[in-house]
Amino acid sequence: MKKSFEVRLHGRGGQGGVTCAKILAAVYAHLGHSVQTFGDYASERSGAPVRAYTRVGNEPITNRNKVYEPDEVLVLDDSLLGADTLDGLVDGGALLVNSPLSIEVFDQKYSTSTAPFTTGVIDATAIARKHGIGTRSVVIVNTTIAGAYARIHDVPLEALKQTYTDLGLISNFPAALEAYESVEYRGPVDGAHVEKHMATQVTLPEVEQIIDHVSSSGTGLATGSWSSQKPSYVENLAPCNAWCPAGNDVVGFIGALETSEQAAAEILGQSTPLAAVCGRVCPAPCMEACNRAEYDGAVNIRGLERWIADTIPVAVKKVARVSNAKRIAIIGGGPAGLAAAYEIAKAGHAASIYEGEKELGGVLRTGIPVYRLARPALDQEIENILALGVEAHCDEFLTANRMAEIEAEYDAVIIASGLQKLRGLEVDGAQLAGIEQGIQYLHRVNLPEDGKSPVESAAIQGHVVVLGGGNTAMDCARSALRAGANKVTVAYRRSFDEMPAIKEEIEEAGREGIVFAMLRQPVGFSGTDNLSGVVLAEVDLGEPDDSGRRRPITSTRTAVMDCDAVLLALGQTEDYGLLPEGWELPWGSERRVTAGNRGEILVFGAGDIATGEGTVTHAIGSGRRAAGLALAALSAVDVNDVPLDETHIFQRPDRTTAIPVTDIRLDHFARAQADTEQTIDPMQAVKNFNQVNNGLRSKQELHRCFSCGHCTECDTCLVYCPEGIIRRLTDEGTPYEVDYSYCKGCGICVEECPRSAMEMSS
Ligand code: SF4
Ligand code: SF4
Ligand code: SF4
Repeated sequence: MKKSFEVRLHGRGGQGGVTCAKILAAVYAHLGHSVQTFGDYASERSGAPVRAYTRVGNEPITNRNKVYEPDEVLVLDDSLLGADTLDGLVDGGALLVNSPLSIEVFDQKYSTSTAPFTTGVIDATAIARKHGIGTRSVVIVNTTIAGAYARIHDVPLEALKQTYTDLGLISNFPAALEAYESVEYRGPVDGAHVEKHMATQVTLPEVEQIIDHVSSSGTGLATGSWSSQKPSYVENLAPCNAWCPAGNDVVGFIGALETSEQAAAEILGQSTPLAAVCGRVCPAPCMEACNRAEYDGAVNIRGLERWIADTIPVAVKKVARVSNAKRIAIIGGGPAGLAAAYEIAKAGHAASIYEGEKELGGVLRTGIPVYRLARPALDQEIENILALGVEAHCDEFLTANRMAEIEAEYDAVIIASGLQKLRGLEVDGAQLAGIEQGIQYLHRVNLPEDGKSPVESAAIQGHVVVLGGGNTAMDCARSALRAGANKVTVAYRRSFDEMPAIKEEIEEAGREGIVFAMLRQPVGFSGTDNLSGVVLAEVDLGEPDDSGRRRPITSTRTAVMDCDAVLLALGQTEDYGLLPEGWELPWGSERRVTAGNRGEILVFGAGDIATGEGTVTHAIGSGRRAAGLALAALSAVDVNDVPLDETHIFQRPDRTTAIPVTDIRLDHFARAQADTEQTIDPMQAVKNFNQVNNGLRSKQELHRCFSCGHCTECDTCLVYCPEGIIRRLTDEGTPYEVDYSYCKGCGICVEECPRSAMEMSS
């Protein structure tokens, strides 16, 4: 190392230049040298040019002057590169610049290839941003560029690492290491023979005129060149959008609802034909993910979706068939099949649904009781789908032979037949009279025989025990209470936390008087011909299983619970009986069926039979995806004659990119309680099968939405910009314009944006 040398740093207020000078001093101190370091900025604002200095020697340093003839110059922002930046740099010295430009571009721009000093270039801003150093508005580059400095000046990495540890900066060391490894640099060109006055030899960037005599706006000081980063308006993923399994643009439809129900319905209709259904029965994962949840309660998204769909039908109206329309058969008229048919019809192709029951709807009609899903709402949405030209062939349960015929008849097939095989219990007494599958019981409730009411059709007496913890269990329990049972107990082998049923359903069941026996596993039934009780064993919870829920371990501690009827709600599995021989339907996604020697055929799975995700909304998303895959495989074209490829298919968004609540400026939002729906008193509700939840009273709930990641034109950026250089535009789609010739890149607008709809970039 040289006996003594001086370093000068050029940066902007906020970039950490003075700290960078201190880091260099600390490294050399660690190596046993005398050091001195100081900055010469005082009250400059963020973005203003600042300098800092470091002296290193083997003897005590007594010189207190600023550095005028530096051996090394570090430039933390290439927009600062000008005549005075290189002033006094000695021959044989070194220049290191933070810039996204490559060293070749530097040569052309600044003639550094003929300079008598070493030149190094590193994009420290990009590296620091990648490593998350700084805030989302201001990237701090000091600890990163110090890594590049160490490489050029042969500073041992161990010394640098120890210094970062001592200064509490070790979390930034990976960025320094990346800069160390990726810095581009080149030694001086014949430095001994080159004149020392670099200002005459280096082609420097043009210096902008400081006083603008022409413009009368603002201060006239064009300070935009101070800026190392610029703000811009962006659209980020809102958590509600990321979590809606159907792919609804939640932030979009809530924003549009401010204008009108019609505008909101048009947005919903792009992704779903079943918004009135989902507005009633969706478990609403969007609300669990809502950024408002932790603040003062999630936005009632499901309630707003229902408000819109109950006011205006969301499905698109008539769509003309494309000239080369494809014909696609859909097996199953439940939510997955209906969504697939809608997607196909929307793209101008022909969809035909095959349904075993007398009417379309699948589990929506056979499984969900009318007090949760009023049939007029379901019927209306199905009618809107059929109005697009979708054909329905009902009342025919298919066989494998018939399936093969359909496959030959159509261009493609989507199998969305749900989970048809019912799980039973192989324990003593399982054959006793009085034990019934919950799904069959709900069928009786929902599709009463001619002339019977649901109460008559589903009549049940005494103490009814429902075994299971999912939505079918809740529907059975609440229906039994309405159909004559004087007591209903739900016995479940895990705890409340692990119950898969929708939380609100469990709560409503509790309010209606359902009793819960948790951590109980049925191990037998008592009775002679008729059931008289269920034998329940206590359950201990073990380690989490594959589903993340704690594994139930059945104990030998048992007791008999007297009862008059048992409804089994233990789940369903896929029934592949309708598939022709040799067909294999892949599990876990909507992929194509393989058919023996024929290989992959144009048959796709959708909904529970393909993914087993188990909710109406997941089934809608799955149906959409299967329809898109089928159309893409057929190289179909949409109504605008744009070829459909896989990029047009509804994909699950990358949830990791959703805006977290920590990026929302909560102080901009007043706390307000969520608006809840009007519900019937539980004691009255259990007397009949009338709809329990009657929806929101108004749409005022929309005002609680933060609009995460989406600009609402709230003017906060405009108000907070200290330079006053953001102005409103009247053009559609671009509400604001930043005058970059005056923007110092301070990042205040980005920091203050309440909803994270702005970002800084180089
Ligand atoms: S369908 Fe369900 S998850 Fe999607 S927006 Fe509606 S309530 Fe939320
Ligand atoms: S606050 Fe609004 S935009 Fe943000 S997650 Fe909740 S519903 Fe979505
Ligand atoms: S607040 Fe104003 S000066 Fe600061 S970055 Fe935003 S637009 Fe530029």
